[in-house]
Parts: sequence; C-alpha cells; structure tokens
Amino acid sequence: MTDTIFGKIVSGEIPAEFLYEDEHCVAINDINPQAPVHVLVIPKRAIARLVDAQADDQALLGHLMLAAGKVASQLGVDDAFRLIVNNGAGAGQTVFHLHLHILAGRGFAEGQMAGFK
Ligand code: AMP
Repeated sequence: MTDTIFGKIVSGEIPAEFLYEDEHCVAINDINPQAPVHVLVIPKRAIARLVDAQADDQALLGHLMLAAGKVASQLGVDDAFRLIVNNGAGAGQTVFHLHLHILAGRGFAEGQMAGFK
C-alpha cells in the first residue's frame, strides 16, 4: 500500500502533536479545522478506506470508536460531538488511510447538516 501523510505522521516521519496515543491509534488536530474542535483519530495500521476493512479489523474498528469517545471526553466535548468517516473520493475522502473525524464546539442540530463536516 502506498504510504500516506497519515502513515508518515503515525510512524513519526512527519512530526505531529499527538493529543492521544495508545497501542493502536493516535489523535491529532486537523490542519484545516471545520469546527472549534476538529480532531482525527488515526489507526497505526493503515486501511485505505472503511470499505477495505476486513473481518480481521473488527477489533481495531471498535477500538477506534472507543478511542474517539476517550478523546472527546479528554477534550471536554463528550456531551456533543459528531463522528465522521468519509469513504471514497466521492464522499470527500482525501487521505486514503482510514481516520475518524471528531467535530465539536459548534451547532449540529437540525438544519445544520449542510456540508459533511
Ligand atoms: P478526509 O477528507 O476525510 O480524507 O480527511 C482528511 C483530513 O486530513 C482533512 O480534514 C485535512 O484537513 C486533514 N489533513 C491533511 N493533512 C493533514 C496534516 N498534515 N495534519 C493534520 N490534518 C491533516
């Protein structure tokens, strides 16, 4: 698999501040935030798109969800955040290393769904 910017961030080749790190994933601030809190949870093992995940990845996918909750709690936004995965270029995916977007700090109520993030 071709390495991506997130592969390089996870490996340390490109420096980034990890807001959270455990054995399986890291969390970083998005470089182009779409909300006051916009954090990416990135697995250390690269999976290009969610649809490329296999049965073997089940535990990792669950782990990422739990990590997202921990990061949201750590950032004090656990009462109101949105979790997004873009799958494929047509859905806005630009980095082909699976990641979860955590967005918080602005309204997401009814009528505020415009734009995916
Ligand atoms: P997606 O469009 O779902 O693939 O999300 C990729 C996200 O990565 C975008 O929101 C970008 O702003 C973000 N991004 C790209 N390069 C970096 C970087 N070096 N550090 C942090 N975020 C990045």
